[in-house]
Amino acid sequence: MTAKAPITQDVHTIPRHLPDGKPNLVGMTRDQMRDALITAGTPEKQAKMRMGQVWQWVYHWGVRDFDAMTNLSKDYRTMLAETFVIALPEVVTRQVSGDGTRKYLVRIAGGHEVEVVYIPEEDRGTLCISSQVGCTLTCTFCHTGTQKLVRNLTTSEIVGQIMVARDDLGEWPTPGAPKDETRLLSNIVLMGMGEPLYNFENVRDAMKIAMDPHGIQLSRRRITLSTSGVVPEIARTAEEIGCQLAVSFHATTDEVRDVLVPINKRWNISALLDALRSYPKVSNSERITFEYVMLDGVNDSDEDARRLIKLIDGIPAKINLIPFNEWPGAPYRRSSNNRIRKFADIIYKAGYASPIRTPRGEDIMAACGQLKSATERARKSRAQIAQEAGL
Ligand code: SAH
Ligand code: SF4
Repeated sequence: MTAKAPITQDVHTIPRHLPDGKPNLVGMTRDQMRDALITAGTPEKQAKMRMGQVWQWVYHWGVRDFDAMTNLSKDYRTMLAETFVIALPEVVTRQVSGDGTRKYLVRIAGGHEVEVVYIPEEDRGTLCISSQVGCTLTCTFCHTGTQKLVRNLTTSEIVGQIMVARDDLGEWPTPGAPKDETRLLSNIVLMGMGEPLYNFENVRDAMKIAMDPHGIQLSRRRITLSTSGVVPEIARTAEEIGCQLAVSFHATTDEVRDVLVPINKRWNISALLDALRSYPKVSNSERITFEYVMLDGVNDSDEDARRLIKLIDGIPAKINLIPFNEWPGAPYRRSSNNRIRKFADIIYKAGYASPIRTPRGEDIMAACGQLKSATERARKSRAQIAQEAGL
């Protein structure tokens, strides 16, 4: 695949409207599904078993037609079809970048749109999903941050993004077929639009479904949640989700971080680091990923690199350097490749992995921080952003 390969865009518009307000099985947790089946008339004694069966059809086999649920009686299937729907968000467009990255524009209830990005790599395939339409936070280098929050996504809409991608990749298992070890969609990152820890319950429930051994079956080690630093929810993430954690660090002094990641004014670097120190132990997870966007002349000096090393001392960490992805009206420039390499070198010599994230899908505006839905195009001007950033 070369960068010159043509960009393709197809309009899908698969009609997936929820008919007459029937409850959607997609998005239900185990408890919710059990309760819903009881309400629909399933005897309590059978409810756990029936839930287990329906659960597997929906989340493991990816079945959409109740008639395909062959281990249930015909009457029971008819009852399910009359009572419930199995509905996913609608895919409006799908764009495929020259580098194989796929970007889906997905429409959810109320006509809102979110973007979902699939990034194929040699040894894995990562799906970057969104947790909110827009974001209430206003990080000055982030395109999503210029979009007003429209709303939190529901559990169904978060899980639905994974299911839509599995549909497109043709990756639902077929009963009886040998188990495929290399999954096309092997990893999930909550790095799309929104701050996942401001939508905690729905994100948690969706990730529990994604990790369920009888559901989508992704290991918690293959799910990474990225937060800008909502400190009180970090401990909860460790206890209630237990996935990998990434943190949008981006600066080594409170002065600069206050501007880049304004949530720092509420929970500063020292409060954030305290919360991060206990994360790996409580969640029994590996290293924390420190995301660090490289902004020319703002946070990319040798001194910054050395300060960063001092700050994270004692935390099992990997530092992911992200060359700034530009978007129309952005008030920053990307650091030069030389500068990024020098910065990476200082960190690497201090004993930390310091991979430089290669921007993917730039030609379709699918790279980190470039996501922004078309429903909310009213863009703040460059001057407005600069003013708010105190530049
Ligand atoms: N709200 C969460 C997750 C979404 S952002 C968070 O902030 O962590 C995912 C990552 O992309 C974050 O590290 C974010 O800081 C980074 N990012 C945002 N805009 C970017 C841009 N224009 N260029 C490069 N990285 C960006
Ligand atoms: Fe929101 Fe994350 Fe963008 Fe900040 S970087 S505005 S928290 S999506």
